[in-house]
Formats: sequence, C-alpha cells, structure tokens
Amino acid sequence: MRIGVISADSASESRVALTPDAVKKLRKLGFEVVIQSGAGQAAYYADEMYQAAGADIASSSTEVVTQSQIITTVNDLPAAAIDQLTSGQIVIGMLDPYRNTQLDTYAGKGVTVFAMELLPRTLSRAQNMDVLSSQANLAGYKAVLLAANEYSRPFPMFMTSAGTVKPAKVVILGVGVAGLQAIATAKRLGAVVEASDLRPTAREQVESLGGKWLDVPMSAEEAETAKSTGGYAWTPSEQYVKDQAAVVDKALSNADIVITTAQIPGRNAPRLVHGATLAKMKAGSVLIDMAAGTGGNVEGSVPDETITTANGVRIVGAANIPSQLAAQSSDLYANNLVNFITTLIAPAATNDTSAKTLALNLDMNDEIQGALAVTHENQVRLAKR
Ligand code: NAD
Repeated sequence: MRIGVISADSASESRVALTPDAVKKLRKLGFEVVIQSGAGQAAYYADEMYQAAGADIASSSTEVVTQSQIITTVNDLPAAAIDQLTSGQIVIGMLDPYRNTQLDTYAGKGVTVFAMELLPRTLSRAQNMDVLSSQANLAGYKAVLLAANEYSRPFPMFMTSAGTVKPAKVVILGVGVAGLQAIATAKRLGAVVEASDLRPTAREQVESLGGKWLDVPMSAEEAETAKSTGGYAWTPSEQYVKDQAAVVDKALSNADIVITTAQIPGRNAPRLVHGATLAKMKAGSVLIDMAAGTGGNVEGSVPDETITTANGVRIVGAANIPSQLAAQSSDLYANNLVNFITTLIAPAATNDTSAKTLALNLDMNDEIQGALAVTHENQVRLAKR
C-alpha cells in the first residue's frame, strides 16, 4: 500500500507532512511512500534524504495522487491534486474542516478525508496524534521569540554601571497549550508574566509556571459551565466579556509584550484587545496575535503582517507560527500522522511486512477515526458548529 506526500501549495507554509524518519517508520510497517519532489525542501529535508529513507520521488502533486492510496498533506490539497482523486482514496491533513469549502467535492468523489484537528484530545490513546498540541507548543515558544525580536528593549533585568534595565512585562491572553509554553519561555527569558483564560482551572497552571493570574470575576453559573465543558472554551456572558475587557485594559496599559492565543474550534476567535485599549498602550510595545488567521484576538491585526498603530504599538498578525519552525514542527506533525496511520491498518496485517498484504481497516465506529473523518462513503460527516 502506497502513501503519498503532497507539497504545501502556499508560500506561507514551510512544513511537510512526512519526514525521512517518518518514511523509515512507514517502510518498516510495510508501506511504500512516494513524495512530491521538493516537498520537504523548506523544512530542510532534501529529496535525496527521502530516497535514502526508501521513498520514491514524483515530479508533481497529480503524480503523487495517482500513485497513492493514502495521501498526506499539511494543509488542503491543491485543486489539481483534488481533481485526480478517485473513490476509496484517503486524505489526511490539517484540513481546517469548519472553513474547508472542498468537503462536498471530496465526498462526491468517494474520498475519505481525515481532518487531524478534530482529534478527541482527552482520549489518552490519541495523545500521540494530537497535531493541535504538537504545533501549538512550538508556536507558543516561538511567539515569545518573535516578540523579543520586535521589542526594542531586552526581556531580562540587567544591572549595569550605566543604569538598571527593568524586566519586560509580558501579558498572555489564552492559556492553553501555546499560552503555557509562552509563559514558560517568557519566564526563562527573565520577563515578568501575567496571564488570563476563561477556564478557571488554568490559574493553577499559570501560577505553577511563576506567572501572575489576571482574575476576571465569574458568576457561580459560569463557574459551573466552566467545570462541565471538559476543559474546553465556552461562550462567556456579556457581563464576563465586559469585565474581561476591563481587566485586559488595565493590564495592557502597563504591558510591554502581549501574546494572544485564544481560539475556539470551528468559530471565529474572540476579540480580546480592543482599539481603545491599544490606544492606551506604550509606544514600542508589541502584540503577537496568534489567532490572526481565524479572525484575530486583537482589533486591527492582519494575518502575516506587522502593523504599527498611530501611538507606536506594533501588532504582529502571526497566522502560522509553526511554519517558522518548519524542521521541528514537521518532525512532530509527521510523528502524529504515523501514529494515526498505524491505526488504519488491520491488526493482523501489521505483523506482515509485505506491502502487498497490508489491509486498510476503516471503521467509523472507532472513536478516533469516527471523530476525524469529515467525508466518507460519499457523505460529509462534519457536524455544524
Ligand atoms: P485553543 O487553542 O483552542 O485556545 C487557547 C486558549 O484560549 C484556551 O485555553 C481557551 O480556554 C482560551 N480561550 C478561548 N476563548 C477565550 C476567551 N474568550 N477569553 C479567554 N481565553 C479564551 O486551546 P488549546 O491549547 O487547544 O487547549 C484547549 C483545551 O484542551 C485546554 O483545556 C487544554 O488544557 C485541553 N487539552 C487537553 C489535552 C489532553 O487532555 N490531552 C491536550 C491538549 C489540550
């Protein structure tokens, strides 16, 4: 059975779905692998490295599609590759399912599409397939470095004969996987860190990393809701949003660096920083909006652009930070994919290393496969949000 790797179809994507190491693992399981020439180049994986790992090289995405049963990708496939798909093929990637406009096309062609973002994250056997976590972890780290680079002062406190340098004040809004890594990284660089999240359970995690919790008052009813959502974000009341804006306004008037990470799967990101707050911020302060690609946490942020407000505040619209760490983010993403692909193979066949005898075991009743499959047997299976 052959697995294909398609090259990213965009200048702003440097990651690759499978690395040479992943190819080796798949070869060991009995798969053949074909990769589009140059697909790993931007992540520093040359065609020769894939060949040495046992992959074949194809000259185009369409050639990969026509040769493969399972097609792996970082983001959605290019139109030419989609055109070539036929019934029974499988596509696996970060396919942005709630905003993907091609699902009807995939379903119409009888293709099974697995969107890795839909993984049930609390399932312990799924944790090594969790692409959101593997990518957000790296993104949280890199966001702090991007901020440090934009900022015209250092992060740590320095005592010098020319005077004392104060530590940078960093505020992190949204303390999931990316936010926690951002707190840890900013602390390691010597900054003073404050953080907030609408999940009250995040408080303990912030404090254990040495950050100060920015508390937003919450009604007893909301506190109950927070407990019952299994650790995921919920829609806060108007009063909470108002109180949160006041807390954010006060914290940001005094901040040097702000990193926003708040996202809600399947919906636009919540607006956490408003124009009136930006107007009170210090000249030279820097905001990194990690939700810029899904509507933005910061008013006025533009995906993949850095803008400077009239009062000298810089807003970085960081739509795809993992791509800026392409070598490492590809390694982890590829591991996630290999772990998932392993579950698609019939258990009896995994002991047999002959490529001809590998058998697919598609099972929509399986809690991982069933959650990830957005199209299968000519149906779009994605529930609306
Ligand atoms: P995310 O990227 O969806 O959002 C980032 C953070 O923003 C979250 O902490 C969220 O609560 C917060 N947020 C959303 N809307 C907000 C608002 N209006 N105001 C303030 N904060 C807001 O989050 P994520 O990093 O993908 O993590 C989501 C949840 O999944 C977390 O509870 C995390 O602990 C949990 N998780 C669990 C596992 C596991 O059990 N294996 C693995 C990864 C993540």
